[in-house]
Amino acid sequence: LLLAMMALDIQPDDEIITTPFTFIATAETIAFLGAKPVFVDIDEQTYNIDASKIEEKITAKTKAIMPVSLYGQPADMEAIQAIANKYNLKVIVDGAQSFGSTYKGKTDSNLGDISTTSFFPAKPLGCFGDGGAVFTNDDELAEKIKSLRMHGQSKRYHHQYIGMGGRMDTIQCGIVDVKLKYYAKDLALRQEVASKYSEKLKMKSEKFILPFVAENVTSAFAQYSIRVQNRDEVQEKLKEKSIPTAVHYPMPLHLQECFSYLGYKKGDFSISEMVSNEIMSLPMNPYLSDDEINYISNTL
Ligand SMILES: *Cc1c(COP(=O)(O)O)cnc(C)c1O
Repeated sequence: LLLAMMALDIQPDDEIITTPFTFIATAETIAFLGAKPVFVDIDEQTYNIDASKIEEKITAKTKAIMPVSLYGQPADMEAIQAIANKYNLKVIVDGAQSFGSTYKGKTDSNLGDISTTSFFPAKPLGCFGDGGAVFTNDDELAEKIKSLRMHGQSKRYHHQYIGMGGRMDTIQCGIVDVKLKYYAKDLALRQEVASKYSEKLKMKSEKFILPFVAENVTSAFAQYSIRVQNRDEVQEKLKEKSIPTAVHYPMPLHLQECFSYLGYKKGDFSISEMVSNEIMSLPMNPYLSDDEINYISNTL
């Protein structure tokens, strides 16, 4: 994300519109560059940024929109791109959770001006440590990003830009290189696990709100996250039955201490706040067996 924003010349005081319902890194990197994260509430079904609320947040300082493909599902990219075109803004996709997902037939790596992903072990395509990738279809941007991740060098010991040491370790590249060969299969299995969960849990749908995948979109299902009213109680009971759950994420970013200087308060983004109180992720990996899915669903 840093490389993407640096390549697009994001400067201190520039504003970038993003979602408060995401992992901290989305907005943290914006702030790290001295730019200002400007939050827009999420859609109640997809949990991604609500494109219909973006336009009212655009100012003369707005430079980019940074949608997140949360839990693996791309945001409403056509609407976002239309706004970006109208106001001459860049689009940076935080695809940390969505490698391999699709939006109207395009992979998420093809969306926006620049798309990024993470190979952290907990992501759909994980290496064994830290890693990630930046994608663009713009050759000039690609050259600049390559230079920025090598201390901004143009040729050895000649530095065109102020960059960073942003290379991925060779050993992690080796791991991703091998795992990539099996990734299409893993992705299909993740989607299969998700449909099996949904099929099983549908019968209880008055108690749970199941994941919703928009039309013409596929999700990488980094997480299978459902909403329940009495989440803490449900988590506790599942834990007693040896079923681990997690909350992605318990506190939206506008309420985080590190962003108190932005001046947001409770109630500013009611949907993000509601979802963060109800959301809960079930065990999810490509190799979850039918027995495990049945056990989890029946216990739930
Ligand atoms: C994991 C994650 C990141 C950060 O990725 P790292 O590779 O761990 O730095 C950024 N954004 C989102 C939405 C993530 O889930």
